[in-house]
Amino acid sequence: MLIDSHCHFDFEPFCDDPGYYLALSHQAGVEKIVIPAVGQRNWQAVRELAERFPGLYFGLGLHPLFSAEHDANALAQLESELAAEVGLREKKHSHCVAVGECGLDFAIADADQDQQISVFAAQLQLANRFELPVIMHCRKAFPELLRVLRQNTPIAGGVYHGFSGSYQQATQLIDLGIKIGVGGTITYRRANKTRNTIAALPLDALLLETDAPDMPVAGFQGEPNRPDRLVNVLHELAAIRTESEQIIKQVTSLTTAELFRIQV
Ligand SMILES: [Zn+2]
Repeated sequence: MLIDSHCHFDFEPFCDDPGYYLALSHQAGVEKIVIPAVGQRNWQAVRELAERFPGLYFGLGLHPLFSAEHDANALAQLESELAAEVGLREKKHSHCVAVGECGLDFAIADADQDQQISVFAAQLQLANRFELPVIMHCRKAFPELLRVLRQNTPIAGGVYHGFSGSYQQATQLIDLGIKIGVGGTITYRRANKTRNTIAALPLDALLLETDAPDMPVAGFQGEPNRPDRLVNVLHELAAIRTESEQIIKQVTSLTTAELFRIQV
């Protein structure tokens, strides 16, 4: 069994025919998908998907790329939604497994860095209050992300999704209990630094993800990525590491299930 730890399954093309894309995923052995939300506008959509289809789980969060869409009440609303989900979870009626997607994105033109940092820190604090793991996004803001993380270390852990970076950066995250999300980047031979880093990290620090419909895997550039292509990431990970594909599949699935407290 494989778990896609990061797929925007409420986005196009999936929302047009989720049953079809789930069937493709199941055929490929991808039986569970964690869907991070980007803002208030899609919290309801991710919740409805998880209620409708077995094997789907979601996070609730405020993604820095969509900060223009977050209104002044966004954090207060997030707090009350998370409180409601955690209450339901105690009765096993919630598939909300994380706070996210949140983080820092200083690659955006005119990014309001202070605002991003305060919204991210607030979400880390909510994650700790509700004892949920965090799903993090980061572009061109690694030192700042690390600083905010050290001030608000997630007690239920988290994942740095779509990792591409150095061994030192990865170990700094792992030391804080953060897992490393491995996606389509490693399927490109030119991504040497990331491939070498991922090959050298402890296997139990890694989660598999597609970030579909983003981050197409090699050979499928120019078309929307899909959760069934998680197997391409798995194949490539097996090619660059010493363990067998079977072991990598077992360990990464278990790590993902444990982080998000998903029953397998
Ligand atoms: Zn994402």
